[in-house]
Amino acid sequence: RRGGPGNSVVVIGLGRFGRALALELVDEETEVLGIDEDAETVQTLSGALTHTVRADSTKEDALRQLGVHEFDRAVVAIGTDLEASILTTSLLISFGVENVWAKAISEAHGRILTQLGVHHVVYPEHDMGQRVAHLVRGRMLDYIEFEDDFAMVKTNPPGDIIGLPLSSSAVRSRYGITVVAIKRPGQGFTYATAETTVEANDTIIVAGRTRETERFSELR
Ligand code: ADP
Repeated sequence: RRGGPGNSVVVIGLGRFGRALALELVDEETEVLGIDEDAETVQTLSGALTHTVRADSTKEDALRQLGVHEFDRAVVAIGTDLEASILTTSLLISFGVENVWAKAISEAHGRILTQLGVHHVVYPEHDMGQRVAHLVRGRMLDYIEFEDDFAMVKTNPPGDIIGLPLSSSAVRSRYGITVVAIKRPGQGFTYATAETTVEANDTIIVAGRTRETERFSELR
């Protein structure tokens, strides 16, 4: 089998989502076999991915010929064509691919993928919509929510913690959040420690319960 950790992934469907995903994987030095039935799409991406092939992924013979059954990891990035998404996914599962990721465009689509045995169903549009809602509502620069109501937020520091080491501004007890990283203008992020002093133009990353991180990012 191919595709040991960090090595190779097959990405089926090179639309907006699949393309971005495949290019990011290649960027991190993962070998990527990209498959799409559209000639123009394949043409555009050839050279950018490790291998780019034009094929109909609903055809078992085509997938076998490409060696897809030998991969440990596969992403089905077909959304709009529900039938193609389901048929492709079902083939990957029957091949015994150990880690199948699939994109769903609706809750019902996601439910079917789960029933087929997909290991990770992702809802890019739904999740991005939720994430952007938090950015629109608050004053955060970036936002990631994890399960169990826990989030990390990139934000500018409020006035009352500026000029003080984090230990004396006591953000954890006062606001229920932890400052995990800090970035001075023109520099990269570094870990925050108790001695770190926050300056007015710094950007900080805080972690905590969703509501507390959001409330903290709204302080001025
Ligand atoms: P996005 O919203 O990310 O652009 P789409 O569902 O619109 O996603 O795009 C899916 C991609 O998958 C398209 O490039 C399309 O050509 C490809 N695709 C659809 N059906 C098949 C199939 N049976 N075999 C291979 N590729 C397919």
